[in-house]
Amino acid sequence: AKEEGRGLFRYYSAERNSASLYHLRLEADLRKAIDLKEFELHYQPQVNILHDDKFVGMEALIRWHHPREGNIRPDVFISVAEASGLIVQIDRWVLRQACIDGARWRDKIDQPFRLSVNVSAVHFRQTDFIDVLTCIMLETGMKAENLALEITEGVLMKELQLATENLSKLKKLGIEVAIDDFGTGYSSLAYLRNFEVNTLKIDRSFLIDIGANKKDQAIVSSITELARNLKLDVVAEGIETKEQLEQVFGRGCYIIQGYYFAKPMPRQALDRYLNIIDDE
Ligand code: C2E
Ligand code: CA
Ligand code: CA
Ligand code: CA
Repeated sequence: AKEEGRGLFRYYSAERNSASLYHLRLEADLRKAIDLKEFELHYQPQVNILHDDKFVGMEALIRWHHPREGNIRPDVFISVAEASGLIVQIDRWVLRQACIDGARWRDKIDQPFRLSVNVSAVHFRQTDFIDVLTCIMLETGMKAENLALEITEGVLMKELQLATENLSKLKKLGIEVAIDDFGTGYSSLAYLRNFEVNTLKIDRSFLIDIGANKKDQAIVSSITELARNLKLDVVAEGIETKEQLEQVFGRGCYIIQGYYFAKPMPRQALDRYLNIIDDE
């Protein structure tokens, strides 16, 4: 039994070592990925189902084409990037590229739209966050009315002063803010009273089984009603089926993002989706 125990211990520590080795390697590779142009942005459309599924905007989602490992999912490398602080450089690359593409779309899409960009907590809390953002918008010609930032509840729980200041500066600039993965963080609803935000994004976890799960139905109804009472927009993400679509529609949520309408796609594919003729 003693032998067995040791073997088990050895096994687990080997596992742990190789897991941290993997992370270290990932971190080293991430450090070079921007320069090596291994990142790409994909864009997922958002539509309004109350208005003939009209296109209202898109979310920028990062993709990493690793030279040896192939495509690595953001769920895997974003947490490594956050732990190492590399996320700040990565998020800034994303913001700049999204603004370049957004400014171009402004010339080609003849209707209002908002391009949403994810901003990690570490990035949002940089003291020069607003300055850098303003610079990028000036350089790229991106307009505030075409930009929205997605932050998570966690952003609002630490360094309240800075978060409050940043949010009111964003409001002055005319840049909307959405709370991503709403309802999944460890936070109180009080922040909705104290912070200037525009949109609640209902997390996919509440929608996966919404057809059958009465609790999910109650939660989604409540979030939608909360948004309506606070005069906030509400977005359902991760809608894949007609049943999910009907469930959220019946509960008063009309802005939809999900595979049911479109998967995230490269810029050129979104051009085709929007019937944009590229004359460059
Ligand atoms: P998120 O911000 O909640 O993004 C939504 C995720 O749901 C995306 O996964 C999207 O591809 C996926 N999704 C959308 N519709 C459906 C659907 O109908 N079914 C299913 N199964 N999935 C759907 P993705 O692109 O893998 O990104 C995962 C997470 O990584 C994001 O979650 C976000 O937290 C983070 N992330 C992605 N891009 C960035 C970025 O540029 N910066 C930062 N800081 N984080 C990012
Ligand atoms: Ca998001
Ligand atoms: Ca989300
Ligand atoms: Ca999520």
